[in-house]
Amino acid sequence: MAIRPDEITEILRRQIEEFESELDVESIGSVLMVGDGIARVHGLPDAMAGELLEFPKETYGMVLNLEQDNIGCVILGPYTHIKEGDAVKRTGRIVQVPVGKALIGRVVNPLGQPLDGKGPIQSETFRPTENVASGVIDRQPVHEPLQTGLKAIDSMVPIGRGQRELIIGDRQTGKTAIAVDTILNQKDSDVICIYVAVGQKASTVAGVVETLRERDALDYTIVVAATASDPAPLLFIAPYAGAAMGEEFMFNGRHVLIVYDDLSKHAAAYRELSLLLRRPPGREAFPGDVFYLHSRLLERAGKLNDKLGAGSMTALPIIETQAGDISAYIPTNVISITDGQIFLETDLFYSGVRPAISVGRSVSRVGGAAQVSAMKKVAGRLRLDLSQYRELEAFAQFASDLDKSTQAQLARGERTVEILKQNQFAPMPVARQVVSLYAAIHGHLDDVDVDSVEKFEAELHETLRQEHQDILDELTETKALTDELAERLSTAIKAFKESFLD
Ligand code: ATP
Ligand code: MG
Repeated sequence: MAIRPDEITEILRRQIEEFESELDVESIGSVLMVGDGIARVHGLPDAMAGELLEFPKETYGMVLNLEQDNIGCVILGPYTHIKEGDAVKRTGRIVQVPVGKALIGRVVNPLGQPLDGKGPIQSETFRPTENVASGVIDRQPVHEPLQTGLKAIDSMVPIGRGQRELIIGDRQTGKTAIAVDTILNQKDSDVICIYVAVGQKASTVAGVVETLRERDALDYTIVVAATASDPAPLLFIAPYAGAAMGEEFMFNGRHVLIVYDDLSKHAAAYRELSLLLRRPPGREAFPGDVFYLHSRLLERAGKLNDKLGAGSMTALPIIETQAGDISAYIPTNVISITDGQIFLETDLFYSGVRPAISVGRSVSRVGGAAQVSAMKKVAGRLRLDLSQYRELEAFAQFASDLDKSTQAQLARGERTVEILKQNQFAPMPVARQVVSLYAAIHGHLDDVDVDSVEKFEAELHETLRQEHQDILDELTETKALTDELAERLSTAIKAFKESFLD
């Protein structure tokens, strides 16, 4: 092959002519003002809403306001070293957190950085904190139960996988206790739990973590914590970060339970940011989009269809009310977004009814479809007995002598209330719940002293375990209470009661 020099020089000349150095163009803006965790930045006209901006010393901020000549952003982390005139870089990314198995058993902040001193999180997968919720086609109706292990809830306000059930009540009424017991009850199930603490005292969060650790519940739980001392932007993104971690499991066909404790403080943190960003205040000084704040979060829970792996994310948001006022702005908003609420009353709590669930004001709009059949059978009667009791109780205070049937109803009611009481950290498997409730609604407790009901229940369970394990096994396995099984259960309870009353 002959070498043709003019062709080679031609190629060389062309390459020299077309030579261009590649320039890396980066938009850089500058800080106009900074303070209270927010910054106004000038000179980044193409920044996106929700985008991460880089400030000096690896501090990041998130764009919230896009205005004509500047952008308002919140700073995620310490901000005292940022000065007016500092350079700000676009990153082109939106806020994201590490997700996946590596997080299980860990305590992290809302950016996914470890808080538990157990070393870095070894995760290669990330998800954006904000994500559009699955559409209608991607979902299917809730149909499997999520057992809380609490008699009063599993029987009367049942929760299904993929449901959003609000826990609402005044301060110190056992809201966190219900959520924690539900997490403890997922021990031998296939549910991954996420506890998101927003704006609580660090000592309270440490207490919850310790409880979970002691009872081996951290093995399947992620704790996302933004405490009262953290800046408002971190509180604001905490629930979304938790939801992103949950979604990773849900989209992989797993079941997730996520607790947001609590969304009142989340709304307050968002109000703080909005006022600092000078957004117009509305009712109770909350900004106009505070409904969207929680609706876009809670919509991310749900049950996916079989084609998408049938994963689920069940959400238990918590709201703190002031003096039982559920008609305040945030409570009404969240009540209208969720599929039901568990309402806790201070009066009940202090009269010793714990968990202090108000039967009349608590509902579950979809969970009934998911209740196991044995539970369904006993729960109908239970609600009826209780509501009749509540009605009679009020007016029996004035009546001097009551007829026999009224007295009987009152006695039944008192014992039903008693059997629904449950200690903290003692979630109960569904078979044993059915046994207790069966005994109550069929009058087996009517001649037991109210004060001895707790003892009766404990000893009944112990006796069944020792002598009639077959009944418990059958209940656990078939989840149904056939007439034949009910007969055997009834006989066993009667036999036990004879020895108990002696
Ligand atoms: P806060 O408003 O401070 O968040 P809270 O509504 O979350 O309070 P918890 O912290 O769960 O309430 O409970 C308040 C107190 O009541 C705790 O000391 C807890 O131990 C106790 N408690 C809660 N549930 C029960 C129960 N079922 N039996 C006995 N004590 C309970
Ligand atoms: Mg609490």
